[in-house]
Amino acid sequence: MTTSTEWFDRARAVIPGGVNSPVRAFGSVGGTPPFSVKGEGAWLIDVDGNRRVDFICGWGPLLLGHSHPEVVDVVQQTAADLMCPGGSTPGEVELAEAVVARLKAVNPDAIDEVRLVSTGTEATMTAIRLARGVTGRDLVIKFSGCYHGHSDGLLAAAGSGLATLALPGSAGVPEPITSQTIVLPYNDLDAVRAAFNEYEGRIASVIVEASAANMGVVPPLPGYNRALAEICHADGALLICDEVLTGFRTGPAGWWGREQEDPERGNWTPDIFTFGKVIGGGMPVAGIGARREVMEHLAPNGPVYQGGTLSGNPVAVAAGIATMRLADDAVYAHLDAAADRVIGAVKREFDRVGVPVAVQRVRNLFSFAMGDGAALGWSGVDEFGSPAPVNEDEVKRQEGWRYPAFFHAMLDAGVNLPPSVFEAWFLSSAHDDEALSHFEATLPAAAEAAAAATA
Ligand SMILES: *Cc1c(COP(=O)(O)O)cnc(C)c1O
Repeated sequence: MTTSTEWFDRARAVIPGGVNSPVRAFGSVGGTPPFSVKGEGAWLIDVDGNRRVDFICGWGPLLLGHSHPEVVDVVQQTAADLMCPGGSTPGEVELAEAVVARLKAVNPDAIDEVRLVSTGTEATMTAIRLARGVTGRDLVIKFSGCYHGHSDGLLAAAGSGLATLALPGSAGVPEPITSQTIVLPYNDLDAVRAAFNEYEGRIASVIVEASAANMGVVPPLPGYNRALAEICHADGALLICDEVLTGFRTGPAGWWGREQEDPERGNWTPDIFTFGKVIGGGMPVAGIGARREVMEHLAPNGPVYQGGTLSGNPVAVAAGIATMRLADDAVYAHLDAAADRVIGAVKREFDRVGVPVAVQRVRNLFSFAMGDGAALGWSGVDEFGSPAPVNEDEVKRQEGWRYPAFFHAMLDAGVNLPPSVFEAWFLSSAHDDEALSHFEATLPAAAEAAAAATA
């Protein structure tokens, strides 16, 4: 039997860093990533024979857990029939209809059309191009700590002062490209207003995660998203709501849909949505959605070019359609209840061992920030009344050095957590009492390991 350690050695010989996406490397926790061979509902099994409750769920897509039998069934059937026709298929229409129906159920004016692509990166890249094509403007605002995939202009790092044009956030990204991006702190409307004052009439769009969830979860403050929409629209800019992570996960119409249920948060509509992850149910599907007058700018109707050999691939969209069909209200209620249970357990155990935690949460999507929030200057408040971080700068102040000990104690005891403290935890409808009980049983020793860790 080849072990994970042996596979990782082989991987590093032929794949940069041994991984095909950096988030999978154990860079911030140390050790060797397990090599998986089988997923069963809430459980993931590796080549070494370990069986673990999985809180990554493919980084979001697996809303129904690993290898849900009905999803597997349609994927197998579709693959046997038609893998890649290079032309139109009924499935892509059905998936687009399902997406449009879910958003229209919340607001009939939210969206009319969806263009399907294969990755979230393509979706956000296209959304930006579309916003520029519609407005005839170049500048884009993004927020530090928000991730929108790895296209050049979105890999921008904040410059020194506020509202300055950004610096490249990666080698290989030319400065003239990131100088079209303005990077601002999240949850800070004054910074957005200042940028619109300085660059009046020049900003094509603001792109924001519906809720930030790629620096750990950082919920938007109540009214933040609505104010972003108002500021954009007052200047003729478009708001891009990136629901690649939160869409169809935090609710039937994503986090945007959840905010519309809440008078304190609701009553706003972005101009462009991006989707990914759950929309493909574990297969490569993503999408861009908007009202018809925006979407008609895309090729072949309009002058903004976008295309893809595998876009709307029948096998991939089959998984997405099945996932969307099965993700009913009962599934979302189950996910919310499971999140309550996991959060309650973590909060209790960290209280017991004397490590303060802030719960960072949007419904069933959550993470934890460790440390004394008052001393660290966190300016938000979590659902338990504890101080909580509201932006990347505050998130980074946490006692993240406790996490590797916690992570490895959980991993050794059969729980697969994200290998970074700056990532959300993901649940699925397959996280049943057995899986959650196993999680709760492993937690006390891991919390003790976190408490005993030293900086
Ligand atoms: C994952 C993610 C992306 C990028 O999606 P890929 O499919 O990995 O390219 C974009 N935006 C957000 C909010 C994401 O979480």
